[in-house]
Amino acid sequence: MNEGKKPQSIEEKQYLVRFNADTKSHLHVKNPEICLTDCPDKICTLFCPAEIYKWEDIRMHIGYEGCHECGSCRIGCPHENIDWVYPKGGHGILFRLG
Ligand code: SF4
Ligand code: SF4
Repeated sequence: MNEGKKPQSIEEKQYLVRFNADTKSHLHVKNPEICLTDCPDKICTLFCPAEIYKWEDIRMHIGYEGCHECGSCRIGCPHENIDWVYPKGGHGILFRLG
């Protein structure tokens, strides 16, 4: 159906990645209270290209399994409130090129 055609949209490109998720998250909010009280814009829910961060009433849900490891959340959080490391060896995103 899509053979021979280069993927164009983000959604199409997402089909070219696979994930080998660890059982433990490599992403952590350092102080959830800061998200609750000092960050009305919850900007991590906007800048993350993989939509990993979802605000759920009073807490941040982190769907770490789909992280693209772009590193944006290390510098994007205005409160430096995200503890970010690469997933353990062998885990995380796998790119299929070509
Ligand atoms: S941008 Fe930082 S402080 Fe704000 S909600 Fe996200 S993790 Fe919390
Ligand atoms: S590293 Fe990139 S994809 Fe992963 S959670 Fe942070 S902003 Fe989202």
